[in-house]
Amino acid sequence: MGILEVKGVNKRFGGLQALGNVNLSVKENTVHAIIGPNGAGKSTLLNVLVGKLIPDTGSVMFDGQSVLGRKPYQINQMGISRVFQTPEIFGDLTVFENVMIPCFAKRDGAFKLNAVGDMLGQKDLIEKAEQMLIDVNMIDKRNMHSASMSRGDKRRLEMAMCLVQEPKLLLLDEPTAGMARADTNNTIDLLKEIKAKRDITMAIIEHDMHVVFSLADRITVLALGTPLVEDAPENIKGNPKVREAYLGE
Ligand code: ADP
Ligand code: MG
Repeated sequence: MGILEVKGVNKRFGGLQALGNVNLSVKENTVHAIIGPNGAGKSTLLNVLVGKLIPDTGSVMFDGQSVLGRKPYQINQMGISRVFQTPEIFGDLTVFENVMIPCFAKRDGAFKLNAVGDMLGQKDLIEKAEQMLIDVNMIDKRNMHSASMSRGDKRRLEMAMCLVQEPKLLLLDEPTAGMARADTNNTIDLLKEIKAKRDITMAIIEHDMHVVFSLADRITVLALGTPLVEDAPENIKGNPKVREAYLGE
């Protein structure tokens, strides 16, 4: 049994079957990549996992409990955090304040910007946020205005905002999209470091095969909304079905 078990998930948008009978099992403490051509249904699947979309049929079990019917914040409290395709940070706040907000959100079930005003009394949360900034090598930037950071640092901060919630499952939707090679490699290193430091499962959607093959223990290939192959990375490259799925790209 995986920490995440998706069974028979279907999702239609009008006449379009975005997900068709998706089965996926993600084992605890592994990095599981979900790849596939544009329009394959990767983001739709992720949105189902975080409760932003409700599938027409099927089941999604996380850590032994059903995710379906729960609101995104409740799923977040169950231990699933998501890194968005574009960084979602609060530009007007400092780096440290940005990391505090998800700490409050995990505890209170809501993102409250005004919580920052109450921050000083929260010794345990402050220590957690500081440790997180040390872990991602951003402690020297703690008082920096977030909007003025480089793209790579914004991505790193956003990762810290997810990790500070101590998720059991981290979902990443194209975490290196639009990055230059150097930032991509930094992100790979950061994810490897995080993986080495704590018990965490990652499900990563990624176009960049260099990222996928650097990180993944297992790979699921989605095509036209349906899993085509699930295998170890070394068996994916030469798989003729996978090549065929990408030919249309
Ligand atoms: P991927 O992330 O693999 O590129 P998506 O999950 O974004 O693919 O999309 C899968 C298919 O579903 C695409 O054909 C897309 O156009 C369609 N789709 C996604 N979201 C919606 C939506 N909210 N309404 C209608 N069609 C959608
Ligand atoms: Mg997508």
